[in-house]
Amino acid sequence: MYTDYHIHLFIDGTPVDLEKLSLIIDALKEAEISEVYDMGSKNAAGFQYREVFEENGIRLKTCGFALYKGSGYGRFLGRAIDSMDEVPVLIDELYRKGADFIKVVNSGVVSHRAKGFVTEGGFSGEELEYIVKEARKRSLPVICHVNSDGKIREALIAGVDSIEHGFFINKESIHIMKEKGISWTPTVYALLRYSRELSQTSRAFYEGVIGEHLRMISYATDIGVRVNIGSDSGSRGLRHGVSYHKERAILSDYLRK
Ligand SMILES: [Zn+2]
Repeated sequence: MYTDYHIHLFIDGTPVDLEKLSLIIDALKEAEISEVYDMGSKNAAGFQYREVFEENGIRLKTCGFALYKGSGYGRFLGRAIDSMDEVPVLIDELYRKGADFIKVVNSGVVSHRAKGFVTEGGFSGEELEYIVKEARKRSLPVICHVNSDGKIREALIAGVDSIEHGFFINKESIHIMKEKGISWTPTVYALLRYSRELSQTSRAFYEGVIGEHLRMISYATDIGVRVNIGSDSGSRGLRHGVSYHKERAILSDYLRK
């Protein structure tokens, strides 16, 4: 039985009702996945559907909704933070509703069109430290969506527990992960799948990014960083279960060591 460390309760990017949820559950069962980490939805579907998963023999760990900086990336994943005063209030709400962890969005996504190849989003280093501190008060781990080495470094310094995606990470950051015992869910297949929808020229850019990402994953596993298999399924073009096994196949050479 397997664990998918990064899913969403969407189908092809669209929120699901109870009827559609059964499609996700069936796909996970088919793929022999018995545990999933839900990385958030605007409507906090994880809280609503946790029991349905349980009844079907799948353990759902959920953040409910993610926290993202207002105006930045993350609208469909959670709630916007416009003022830092909202942080303790929202984290309290998540704690009361039984969140298993806090998911924080600290950057946009990889794009060949964006400045620095990552779209806008995320908090300042200080703001992120505050979020981590508030989560720690309630003994909640913090899982961080983040791309670009600068934003990754801020997340590592703030002391998050896991880096999600982590494109454009460098070796120095990987060493910090190792020192601090921070894990990494690199979601390689998610970007590969996305790149397949693009023109040949754009695709070449993503192939380069993925090649470098794989080199960093290899380096991370060599020095003993914990790398998790996470599919990002539920996002557009990424089917539950099937995407997990694609990611697992890509990472198998690195994880076996
Ligand atoms: Zn995701």
